[in-house]
Amino acid sequence: MKCLCETPLESIHLQLDEEGSPVACSHCGTELDLEELSLPPSLNRTIYEWTAQFSSGELTTKEANDTGHTLVYRLQAALDGQTLVFYIPLDENINI
Ligand SMILES: [Zn+2]
Repeated sequence: MKCLCETPLESIHLQLDEEGSPVACSHCGTELDLEELSLPPSLNRTIYEWTAQFSSGELTTKEANDTGHTLVYRLQAALDGQTLVFYIPLDENINI
C-alpha cells in the first residue's frame, strides 16, 4: 500500500519540501516514498538531486520551479500516464 487511498494512485503532487518526500498523494496527502513509485533510476536520481540542490541553496526559486515543471512531464511519462502528476510551485515572489 502506497497511501491511505484504497484505489491505486490517481494523482500525485510534486513539491519541494525540505522536511519530507517531494511526492505525495493528491487525495489523502500521504507522502510517498520515491522508491515505491518504481521510477527509472535516472529519474529517481534527478529528483533526488533537485531536492538536494534546493535544500543547499544552489537553486533560485525560479530555477527550482523550472526544473519542477519539467520533472512533472518525466514523472507523468514514467508512470505510463495512469497517474496524474501536478507540480505545486514555490512562490517566486517570496525571497527567503
Ligand atoms: Zn492517497
